Amino acid sequence: MPISLDDPKKLRQLRDQAHQVAMNMLRPISRTYDRAEHEYPKELDLLAAMIDGISESGASSGAGASGVKREDADDEGSGVKNGTNLASVLGIAEMCWGDVGLLLSLPRQGLGNSAIASVGDADQQARFGDVWASMAITEPDTGSDSAGIRTTAVLDGDEYVLNGEKIFVTSGDRSDAVVVWATLDKDLGRAAIKSFVVPKGTPGMTVERLEHKLGIRASDTATIRFDDCRVPVANLLGSPDIDTSQGFAGAMATFDNTRPLVAAMAVGCAQAALDLTRDLLDRAGVTVDYDRPAVVQSAAAAKFLQMEADWEAARLLMLQAAWMADNRKANAMEASMAKAKAGRMASDVTLSCVELCGSVGYSEGELLEKWARDSKILDIFEGTQQIQQLIVARRVLGLSSAELK
Ligand SMILES: Cc1cc2nc3c(=O)[nH]c(=O)nc-3n(C[C@H](O)[C@H](O)[C@H](O)COP(=O)(O)OP(=O)(O)OC[C@H]3O[C@@H](n4cnc5c(N)ncnc54)[C@H](O)[C@@H]3O)c2cc1C
Repeated sequence: MPISLDDPKKLRQLRDQAHQVAMNMLRPISRTYDRAEHEYPKELDLLAAMIDGISESGASSGAGASGVKREDADDEGSGVKNGTNLASVLGIAEMCWGDVGLLLSLPRQGLGNSAIASVGDADQQARFGDVWASMAITEPDTGSDSAGIRTTAVLDGDEYVLNGEKIFVTSGDRSDAVVVWATLDKDLGRAAIKSFVVPKGTPGMTVERLEHKLGIRASDTATIRFDDCRVPVANLLGSPDIDTSQGFAGAMATFDNTRPLVAAMAVGCAQAALDLTRDLLDRAGVTVDYDRPAVVQSAAAAKFLQMEADWEAARLLMLQAAWMADNRKANAMEASMAKAKAGRMASDVTLSCVELCGSVGYSEGELLEKWARDSKILDIFEGTQQIQQLIVARRVLGLSSAELK
């Protein structure tokens, strides 16, 4: 059977709707909230209500991070499934064609929501299904090496007591709850790291400050302290057991679902830059001819063709990683490949588009310079380029994290 590289038919309507939303609701306010850093984009409340309505009607919204999960049944017995993960990457890519920072600010679609969807049990998914959850892993002394986190969770009666500091928490100020990674026992290493849902307003949880950033300025990025902050035992996501044979498996499972989403953000942002650059080149008299080899075309057209090929490779890896998640296939390596390829591609492509368009690309008259700034984070958060490559190398070579650091 030939491989079809088209988007699945049943998801095309969702993709097209997301594109319309991005064009009509995100693009018009994109520059405004790039300039008004730390101001909440109130227009997103309407959009979030629309997405809630679509979700309540039983259809997957596909607009944010909350939909991703591992599902049990396959599609009408066909054996394969195009499910919520694929819907989410297609929807997110379109929304990020509109604006990455605004997508990251969408209520109830935070990366903490995908942690709840990925690791939480049915009761937790019901209890926290409506909350907007951010994700707090990074600490002042621990970024890439998330096994080294120092925030502690100590069992006291029917509550856990959290102590520590989290930095660079996306939507950490605006979200209704924070999914916090903390260790139950530092001596037991990574297996003792669990995630806890901490609702906003819980005594002992304090948002200390917001960052000023290169890009995604519409998105708030917070430092949060936890001082004797108590949460019910039922707020620990997944199993409280410490299974040292499983290593990091529990908490890390979230990344298998969230990394394809970040790849989708990169694909969408780069697509925006390519679309505008094609248009600007066309207006400047440079036509990209798909029927002739790149080497016989102008340097600008050849560069454009090479960027599109790079974009397509990233997009296919994104689709593969999401499809594998929908079909309950282990996808840790493919999720890292997609994130590594797409993160680097988006940085390269958006900056090359600025270069190709010269002064028009560099000035604020167009959004190209903004996309070049916005895209850089996609190669950093949810694991940097270098960390994704390390994960892929370990898998390919069959080495453990202790053997290849
Ligand atoms: C805007 C923004 C939003 C963020 N949002 C969140 C969020 O919502 N939640 C959250 O928990 N965190 C978030 N982060 C944090 C982000 O995930 C970390 O910045 C990232 O994981 C890198 O950690 P670090 O900054 O400590 O860099 P470091 O880990 O100190 O790395 C510095 C450099 O060294 C490289 N490096 C590190 N280890 C290795 C190695 N073993 N081999 C090769 N190279 C290596 C890295 O790739 C990087 O280039 C956010 C960060 C930013 C800037």
